[in-house]
Amino acid sequence: MKKKEYVIIGGGFSGCALAWSLLKNTDSRITLYSGSQKKLGGHLQSIQTEQGLVEKAANALMNDSLVEELFSDLKITMVSKSKWASKKWFYLESQFRRWPLSLAATIRFFYGYFFLIKILNNIPQKNQSVSEYAESIFGKTSKILFQSALQGVYGAQVEDLSAYNCLSSLRGGIEIINKPERELQYHASVAPLGGMGQLGTAFEKYFEQSPRIKIINEDFKSEIRPRENKIYVLSTDAQSASSLLSLIIPKGESGKSDSINKINLLKKISYRALYSVTLFPKKRSSKRGFGCLFPENKTFLGVLWNKDIFQRPGLNSETWVISGKIKKEENKLLDELESFRNKTYQITEELQSVPHFITYWPKAIPSFDLNHESALSALLKADKHPELGFVSLIESQVYAFGNYTGAIGLNKILTRAWNISHTKF
Ligand SMILES: Cc1cc2nc3c(=O)[nH]c(=O)nc-3n(C[C@H](O)[C@H](O)[C@H](O)COP(=O)(O)OP(=O)(O)OC[C@H]3O[C@@H](n4cnc5c(N)ncnc54)[C@H](O)[C@@H]3O)c2cc1C
Repeated sequence: MKKKEYVIIGGGFSGCALAWSLLKNTDSRITLYSGSQKKLGGHLQSIQTEQGLVEKAANALMNDSLVEELFSDLKITMVSKSKWASKKWFYLESQFRRWPLSLAATIRFFYGYFFLIKILNNIPQKNQSVSEYAESIFGKTSKILFQSALQGVYGAQVEDLSAYNCLSSLRGGIEIINKPERELQYHASVAPLGGMGQLGTAFEKYFEQSPRIKIINEDFKSEIRPRENKIYVLSTDAQSASSLLSLIIPKGESGKSDSINKINLLKKISYRALYSVTLFPKKRSSKRGFGCLFPENKTFLGVLWNKDIFQRPGLNSETWVISGKIKKEENKLLDELESFRNKTYQITEELQSVPHFITYWPKAIPSFDLNHESALSALLKADKHPELGFVSLIESQVYAFGNYTGAIGLNKILTRAWNISHTKF
C-alpha cells in the first residue's frame, strides 16, 4: 500500500505537534509549511533580554506524560516551579483575594456542583453563555468565580463565552490514546528552561534529523491539489484556513456547495486581540504568587508574576495581559497601565523609565463565543470523531486543525494531535 503523505500548512504549536505525532506513530511522509515568520512556533515566542526572559504569549503548559515525552524527544529541559506558583490571586472590590466568594456563596456553589452536576448530570448545553450557565446552576454570585477562572484563558467576559465549549471538561475530558508510560518530573504547569520559544527551535532540530519530513519556511501559496494518499492539514487560524480552502474548487455541484458552506463557516470564527506587556520594575505587589486576575476589569485582564512562577535567571519581571479591542499608542497604553498598576499595588512607579516590552496580537485568541460554537458544531457535524477537532473540509483530503477546532491550551492541542495520529479517518 502506498504510504500517506501529509502537507501541514502552518508551523505553530498545532502544526508542529501534529507533525511530531505523525512521525512517531505512523510511517507517513510530511511537508510542513512554517508560514511567513520563516521559523516554527507561531504564537510561541520568547526573547532573551539584558534583564531576563520575555515571553510574548504563552508562558507555560499543563504537564502530563505526553508533554514529558515531547520534551524528552526535543531534548528540552523543563524548568521547575517556584514555591509561590500555586498561589493564585483575584482582585475584587479593591482587594486581593484568593477565594472570591463569601461563605454563603461558597456553600451554594458546592451544593450546586455536587448535586446538580454530578447527580442530575446538568452539564453545559449548546447555545448557552458561561454566565447563563453559572447563574442558573450555582447562583448569581458564582458568575464572578467563573469570570476569575476563564478570563486568564480566553481573555473575555463570561457573557461572551460559550459554556458548551469553554466548560467542555464538565462533559468529560479527552483521554490520551496509547499514553506514554512516564513518571512525571513535575506536576501542574511546566515550561522549557529557555522559554516557550525554545519549543519552535527544538522542533526544527528534531525534524532536521528525520528523512520523512521536509520543512518549507514560507507561506503556502500554491494550489492545493488533493489526490489519493495525500492529505492537506490547514493548521493556521480560521480565516487563513477559509482563504486556503477557497483555492480548491471540488468537482461536482454537491462538493462545491459543501465547500462554499465550510468556507463561510470558517470565516464566521472571529478572534480577540490582546496586548502582552512585560515589565522589569523595581517595585512589586505586596502579594506573592502565580499572578492575579482582574475579573471586574475589561481592559486589564491579568498579570503574571514571572519570578514567582518559574526559577529562571534574570531580574524581577511581570507580564500583563491587556485587551487589544481598542488599539492604542504604546505611550498611552503604558500610561494607563501605570495608573492601574499604581492604584492596585498601592505604589508609585513610573513605567516609561522601566524596561518594558510590548507585543500586540491582533488574532490572539479565537473568540469561543456562541458564533464560534455554532460554526464549529456545524463544521464537525458529519465527523466521526468530533472530540479530536480534526475538521474534515474535503473528505479524506483536506482537514483543519488548530486551537479554534478544540480546546485552546497547548496540552489539549498536543493530546488531540497525538490521538489523531492513532486514529483511522
Ligand atoms: C497572550 C497569549 C497567552 C497565552 N498563554 C498560554 C499559556 O500560558 N498556556 C497555554 O497552554 N496556551 C496559551 N495561549 C494559547 C496558545 O499559545 C495557542 O493556543 C497556540 O500557540 C496556538 O497555536 P496554533 O498552532 O494553533 O496557532 P498559531 O501559533 O497562530 O500558528 C499558526 C501558524 O500558521 C501560519 N500560517 C498562517 N497562514 C499560513 C499559510 N498560508 N501558509 C503557511 N503558514 C501559515 C502562521 O504564520 C502561524 O505560524 C496563549 C495565547 C496568547 C495569545
